[in-house]
Amino acid sequence: MQVDFRPRGIHLPQIDLWLDCTEDCWNAWISHAHSDHAQGLHGRVFGTPETLGIYRARVLEAAENGSDYVEMGFGEPVEYHGGRLTAFPASHILGAAQLLIEYRGERLVYTGDIKLREPLCGTPTTIVSCDRLIIESTFGLPIYRFLDRAEARARIVAFARECLDQGLTPVFIGYSLGRGQEIVHVLCEAGIQTAVHGSIARFLRWYEHAGYAFDGWEPYENKATDGKALVVVPDFCNYLEASGKNIRLAYISGWAALDNARTRVGAEVLIPYSDHADFEELLALVEGSGAREVDVVHGYTEPFARVLRARGLDARAPMPETARGSIETQEG
Ligand SMILES: [Zn+2]
Repeated sequence: MQVDFRPRGIHLPQIDLWLDCTEDCWNAWISHAHSDHAQGLHGRVFGTPETLGIYRARVLEAAENGSDYVEMGFGEPVEYHGGRLTAFPASHILGAAQLLIEYRGERLVYTGDIKLREPLCGTPTTIVSCDRLIIESTFGLPIYRFLDRAEARARIVAFARECLDQGLTPVFIGYSLGRGQEIVHVLCEAGIQTAVHGSIARFLRWYEHAGYAFDGWEPYENKATDGKALVVVPDFCNYLEASGKNIRLAYISGWAALDNARTRVGAEVLIPYSDHADFEELLALVEGSGAREVDVVHGYTEPFARVLRARGLDARAPMPETARGSIETQEG
């Protein structure tokens, strides 16, 4: 199957399908609703119901444009332009999916952003067998090793309780879609009163709709933070620190696996947990797929492709390296 790697996305010309195209196109698969993947206005859009719901609410807002939306449940194939498309869970954020494309006897899998460990909220990843795999490598270096779900959950709750017992306010730095809602879910489940920044709160309803409970959360209000845990986006921390409140910061991210994260984000406690796969998970995904041919996109592409070549695979980094120096500022 021919695969063209372009700056605006990945194109499969034989079936005219773009994968995570950042500009307007006719036919697009959207792997998940993060803004660097779900962009543009497209003629026909394929995605899971959750991804399409958030994309439409976030990108289109009031400007519905008459696009054709094809909702794809996990494991339910759709015939398309002589090929067959099937979505499988990627457990990166709510609704995130891999896409299996079967065409003339070949099986190609595009992972989008993916993790293998069980997520705090969401459907665990299925490893899909294929001939050729297009995989991300945000954390494609061996220095990245993350906690399992149970350990991450325990560390989040323990930090919150410890702070509250000392009369301090625990602040968790999350991202607006994905990690933020997961942290709120963990705190609410543990019975901890939690105030949530608006950028995170606006997506809670999608998680609630999918069956996750957030009992007792409330919108963040400047004057009413005593006795509560706060979940905020990174940009808000400077404001909180300047406000003179007695806060302690915890940073939950793949980047927290690096020692310099402490000074870079000013967090006292680092919890290395991500919605992306760590290095060992990436290797397990590649190995489990059985693919002999691997294209590595996003993040540490060339180093990870080199690791795969050393293991005898036909692996390469076909996308132009962009913004390499700022990898650590990306969501992770
Ligand atoms: Zn993402």
